[in-house]
Amino acid sequence: MKIGVLALQGAVTEHIRSVTLAGAEGVAIKRIEELNDIEGLIIPGGESTTIGKLMRKYGFIEAIREFSAAGKPIFGTCAGLIVLATTIEGQEEAHLELMDITVARNAFGRQRESFETDLKIEGIDEKVRAVFIRAPLIREVGSQVEVLSTYQDEIVTARQGNLLVSSFHPELTDDYRLHQYFVEMVREKQAS
Ligand code: GLN
Repeated sequence: MKIGVLALQGAVTEHIRSVTLAGAEGVAIKRIEELNDIEGLIIPGGESTTIGKLMRKYGFIEAIREFSAAGKPIFGTCAGLIVLATTIEGQEEAHLELMDITVARNAFGRQRESFETDLKIEGIDEKVRAVFIRAPLIREVGSQVEVLSTYQDEIVTARQGNLLVSSFHPELTDDYRLHQYFVEMVREKQAS
């Protein structure tokens, strides 16, 4: 089973490694045609404005919307979460507008630009090691969105049908259980 990692900018190789550890094949996606070869897509962390610009430039906005409309799972981490959101606080425009959430960028404040913690995530037994880097928060969620974890009462992991997002970087540790959760979503979709 092939899972693609959008390779326009950001933490691509780390995600490919985690996908491999989670028992699937990870491939870098640079052109929209390559979306036809994969069953699930990861949009990595990086800089959401840059990723959004490059997505527009190479036709990924429409192509990923079609990918999602076909029910194929998408996992956005950090900047990837931001590009999936319908609303970005303080910005006129969003990017893919697929997931019914309002996000705040760089929301943990300067003194806490990066930190690590252990998080309880719905659907995963033991706590997961989470690395936050200039991370966004989910301020509001629509009725179809299921909150999977919070940190200090703020939403940091959520799911809406085929869409999964995390504020943190699950690919920067050896803990690949959130990738395993995503691989399971892809497997369920294939079986349906
Ligand atoms: N701060 C970045 C943004 O707003 C996201 C940071 C990250 O992906 N680690 O796009």
